[in-house]
Formats: sequence, C-alpha cells, structure tokens
Amino acid sequence: MQSISIFEMIKIGIGPSSSHTMGPWRASEMFLAELKEDIEKVVCIYVHLYGSLAKTGVGHGTDIAILLGLTGADFTKIDTKKVLPVFNEIRKDRMLYLNGKHYIPFVYEEHLIFDFEHSLPYHPNGMTFIAILEDGNQLERSYYSVGGGFVATEYSNTVNLHAITTPYPCHKAASISEYCADLKLRVSDLVYLNEQAWRQKDEIDGDALKIWHEIKECIYRGVYTEGILPGGLDVKRRAPDMNQKLLGHHVKPKTSDAWIDLVKSCQPTFNNINKWVSCFALAVNEENAAFGRIITAPTNGASGVLPAVLMYSWCFIPGFDEEQVIRFILTAGEIGTIFKKNATISAAMGGCQAEIGVSSAMSAAGLTECLGGNPDQVLMAAEIAMEHHLGMTCDPVAGLVQIPCIERNSMGAIKAITASNIALDGDPSYARVTLDDVIKTMWETAQDMNSKYKETSEGGLAVQIPVNLAAC
Ligand code: SF4
Repeated sequence: MQSISIFEMIKIGIGPSSSHTMGPWRASEMFLAELKEDIEKVVCIYVHLYGSLAKTGVGHGTDIAILLGLTGADFTKIDTKKVLPVFNEIRKDRMLYLNGKHYIPFVYEEHLIFDFEHSLPYHPNGMTFIAILEDGNQLERSYYSVGGGFVATEYSNTVNLHAITTPYPCHKAASISEYCADLKLRVSDLVYLNEQAWRQKDEIDGDALKIWHEIKECIYRGVYTEGILPGGLDVKRRAPDMNQKLLGHHVKPKTSDAWIDLVKSCQPTFNNINKWVSCFALAVNEENAAFGRIITAPTNGASGVLPAVLMYSWCFIPGFDEEQVIRFILTAGEIGTIFKKNATISAAMGGCQAEIGVSSAMSAAGLTECLGGNPDQVLMAAEIAMEHHLGMTCDPVAGLVQIPCIERNSMGAIKAITASNIALDGDPSYARVTLDDVIKTMWETAQDMNSKYKETSEGGLAVQIPVNLAAC
C-alpha cells in the first residue's frame, strides 16, 4: 500500500465534481501527454464515456471537463469565468484547439459518445480516448476517474506519480494511534514527520495556508454571489440571503478578511453559529455547482464540509490561529488517506457516505486535534462522524451536484462538530467501534449498495423529483 500526501486529499479544484469534472479533465491531460509530439498529426479525437460518467456526466460537467482538458487548460489556474465560454465556442465552431497548438474538427454529438449501456470492467467511471492520426494510425487509451480527482489506468494511477515511502507509514487508523503513543506525538506532529518525505516543513505550512486562503476567498465569493445555479433545475443560491440576514446589513466588505471580522462580531448564540456553519457550507457548494474554484476535500460534492468546520473554528473558537489551521488540515487530510486506502472516496463506488461521510470524518478529526483531543479522541471523532453517514446513497437530481448535495454539506459539517464534541468528552478506551471498524463497514456497505444509488441518478431523490429534462 502506498503512502498518500495529505495534499492529494485536500487540494485546489474546480466545480462541480472531482470524479466527473476534475478526473476527466486530468484524463484529457494524460492523453495529451501520451500523444506527445504526435499532437500536430492528430486528425480527430473520439472520447467514449461509460457507466456513471455517461449517466450523470452532463449534469456533472464531464463533457466540459474533457473538452477543456483537451485544449491544454489547467483547472487549477484557469479563470473559471472562461470555462463555459470556451466550451460553448467549441460546440458552436465545431473546432477544438488541441493542447493550444493545433485545430481539429470536434463535433460534440459525434466525437463525444455517452455510452449508457456499458461500463468498463475496472471501475464505473471509465472513459476511452481514441486519436486518429494523419498516417491512419490511432492511439487508444482508457482511464478511470476513481474519486477525489484521482485518475487510474489499469496499470497505474495518479497517486503512483507521487508514491513515496514515509518514515511512519499509516495505512490503518490503528497505526496512527500506535505511532503517536510510541513517539508521544499529536496526530498533526506525526503527519508533519511523514509529509516531510514530500516537502520541507515551511512548504507544508505554506501549502496549507494557501488552501486556507482559497477557502476564505471561496466562501466570501459564495456569500456575495446571488442568482440561480446553472443546469436548468432553477436552484436559487441561498448563502447570500443567510449572510445578509445574519449580518443585518447590505454593504459588501472589500475583502474576505473584512467580511470575517463582521462574522466574528455577531452574537455567538447556538442558533447563530449553527446558521453560520450552514451558510459557509452552502456558499462553497453553490460556488462548486457554478463551476467555481473550490477546495476538493476529499471530493467536490463534499467540498463545503471541511471549509465550513474550519471557518467555524476560525470565527468562533477563541485563539484559533494559523498554526491551528495548519494542524487541522494536516489531521483531516491524514484521515482522508485512511479512507482512500481502505475503502473509497468515490460516490460511484460507495454512494454519498464516501463523499460527505468521509469529509465529515476528516473535519471531525481536524477539529478535535485543534481543540486539544488526544490522538485516540481524534480517531474516535472521525469514527463517530462516519458511523452516522453509513449507507448514505448518492442520488443527485438531474445528475447535477445541487440536490441533495449542497445542503448535505451543511449536515456533514454539523455532524463533524457534534462528533468532535462527543469524542472530546469521551474516553476512547470505552469505545466499542474503532475507526478501522467503521471504514471496513463502510466499504462492505459500498459493495452491497445497489448501483442505482451510486452516482447514476437512477434511484432515490433523482427519480422522485419531477425534472424538465429538456431544460437540464
Ligand atoms: S449525493 Fe453526495 S455523493 Fe452524490 S453527487 Fe451529491 S454530494 Fe456527491
């Protein structure tokens, strides 16, 4: 089993889906890399989308991601306002600027094939790229988007690119507990030691604070962007209204930090704090649904949970400073790696327990670490948070990452805070369920779950809510 950097679990992303947007975008980049010097010999490209990518791909922006990826755009850097115009231009002009070097004809209805009938054997999120070259040869490659923006082939995956041996490898939660006890370390201290196998300590701090900066900017954008989300479901953004009601005035502060100062000045009643947590999560996921820049943690559908808990901590926990922010991110990321290694963070494999459940567990652990929990309490908090997401299905209405996804992030954040409070007041030596037990249970539940509840929009809310598909 490979070690995974926490910065693979918590990273800068683009909405609306890590598995259906970022993964396919990454796959396009990988295919371009395979083509290398043959790029200018390409006559045309066909892309086949299978399984869940075909069934919910349009709602999740898979088509947009594939096309933008083929142009050579980088989703971590692109001006997100340009994404839809570039996509629309390709569709209108029927031409694609391959890797920014060479125009090829690209007819959306002809070259992008949604195969609703078949799945590739390795994973439900499969896709095949075929490039026809001018000499008649062709290059064909299949990729699998395995959750959280990770992409695999049958022989390797994007984690391999960063595979490394850490000094204290933790592939199970029990190992975290054992190392921390032996070395007398907090969880975040242990993560620091391991993470230094990839990067120096000041880089770790800098990268974590960069994530924090993006979180602040994302929430700030979300609470001040009104309107209806794209996709045709007519879902209204609610974070701006909540923000206005909680602040009680209508002047937009000039910076995210100035807005945070206003939030901090609110009465810290239970009701207000509860509403703020919901507002933070809604803000992020409304940005996510609108193809905005977000922090993938561990996925995009669940990208509001960790930011909501972190912003709650920053605003309402006395003395919560940047050192705590870093420790929160390190601890949360480490818990995410344990889920990825022993279960899944892909809704197409495990339903929503693999997205919101994992993000809630990560956030509960991060919060507990910062509130002074010992390592076993940190693991206990993650266990409690996941235990109460077991079996949660993925049933996005119209294949869009909006209903139930956006509200679900508020729920995941509140559960994380509750789980942390229970763990901090609890004695882990009396706990009957370990984090490893609950991860094993989650994985077995994932395998038993009917495929209609695994990001296919063929069950649950997705089939109860009348949708004007023509509009979507
Ligand atoms: S229901 Fe959950 S897992 Fe499915 S798309 Fe929405 S947030 Fe992601």
